[in-house]
Amino acid sequence: MLLTISTSHKPATDLGYLLHKNPARTQEFSLSFGKAYVFYPEATEDRCTAALMLDIDPISLVRGKSGASRENRTLAQYVNDRPYAASSYLSVAISQVYGSALAGRCKELPEAAEASREYEAFIPAVPSRAGEQILHRLFEPLGYAVQTTELPLDPAFPDWGASDYYSLKLTGTVKLSDLLSHLYVLIPALDAAKHYAIGEDEVDKLIRQGEGWLATHPEKDTIVRRYLKHRYSLVRQALEKLIEDEPEIEEAQEAHDVEEQAIEKKISLHTQRLESVVTALQTAGAKSVLDLGCGEGRLISLLLKDRQFASILGMDVSYRALDVARDKLRFDRMPEMQLERIKLIQGSLIYRDKRLAGFDAGAIVEVIEHLDEPRLQAFERVVFEFARPKTVVVTTPNIEYNPKFPTLPAGKFRHKDHRFEWTRQQFETWAATLCDRFGYTAAFSPVGPIDEQLGAPSQMAVFTRLV
Ligand code: SAH
Repeated sequence: MLLTISTSHKPATDLGYLLHKNPARTQEFSLSFGKAYVFYPEATEDRCTAALMLDIDPISLVRGKSGASRENRTLAQYVNDRPYAASSYLSVAISQVYGSALAGRCKELPEAAEASREYEAFIPAVPSRAGEQILHRLFEPLGYAVQTTELPLDPAFPDWGASDYYSLKLTGTVKLSDLLSHLYVLIPALDAAKHYAIGEDEVDKLIRQGEGWLATHPEKDTIVRRYLKHRYSLVRQALEKLIEDEPEIEEAQEAHDVEEQAIEKKISLHTQRLESVVTALQTAGAKSVLDLGCGEGRLISLLLKDRQFASILGMDVSYRALDVARDKLRFDRMPEMQLERIKLIQGSLIYRDKRLAGFDAGAIVEVIEHLDEPRLQAFERVVFEFARPKTVVVTTPNIEYNPKFPTLPAGKFRHKDHRFEWTRQQFETWAATLCDRFGYTAAFSPVGPIDEQLGAPSQMAVFTRLV
């Protein structure tokens, strides 16, 4: 089984850095189902090709499987397409051998890892019982030129006709990490015989690798069904997650820092806001805290400094934000004692979630304005009816203050993903309704420098549960 990735983007040998594999030598990796090799058939300034070859041992696959039932021990277990045709084994190899590249990490050339460049990926044999068209339908919407060639069943016997296998060549200007995640998800979706048991893990992997493109892919349903091998409860779970995981949320997170902070910069509003939230949580005497929509973990890093906060759970819908949070909080170097206090999970605030129950307090900092009306309503119940912490701290911009930001055009929100920005009155009315419905009281404070007429740039409500 072979996957080659080529580029002519100069210097082409940068591909070696991006894949974290030195073009000068062949490297070998032991995987559970055989060996993987990475080598470069060509590596010059002008063009570079990295080949990932899997040497799968079908016999050891059978032997290794203690669960292989008697009736399954047929010839097909020994004579099959596994060694040759691209399958879910290729995805495993991509994630294990090209793991950093798949995650978009490259210490030497971080900018190149982020850049879209023209790549060519070639797989000599891809199974597709549903024919050639599906290959086009899966890859073309992602921006690739797709070239397929039907392979004969046996070139020595042309009369036998065509096989269900195709060679596949993709050419496109993409990020290398995107190319790898497209292959990671779409190759198993073509392979009718996924080798490992399909469990909830696979839903997570699918959502993670499909982040940023699967939710809007026109063949989303087909891909999810095929990737999860028609396990319908899992398919439903995945499709639900994909609805909530809309791309603008990701973009929102990325652009949030740059755009909103640029506008609010002068007064370092965000720092003031986070400090106000920490003070409110300290005053409430909270020991366990939820940070919902935690983003890159700024609040969490402040909470960690105070040992009063013995247990902190950060949740965000964006895997990417959580990855950044882990990096910024230096999870890999965190002492055991600190690690025990903190947990980061992926999840959406618009779904009831058992993991959120039993906390003293919840903070929702600059998140509600990203939720449109139906989502905001779902959020209200998730937090105030189901999670129901004793204290809930919510911050949101005060729209009245917007004219004071010199770079913000009149009538515009502070961020393009904001679905609304409220006046102080609107925020207080919203909060009062929640208090009525769910049995809380609320106190309001301005955050940031106060203008006599317009109030402060940001506003905070501290809700306290009545019983
Ligand atoms: N609280 C953080 C981040 C604010 S940006 C801070 O103050 O720094 C808004 C965050 O909300 C983003 O990280 C975004 O991914 C997250 N978010 C948006 N919709 C969400 C949802 N439905 N569920 C969970 N998180 C969500």
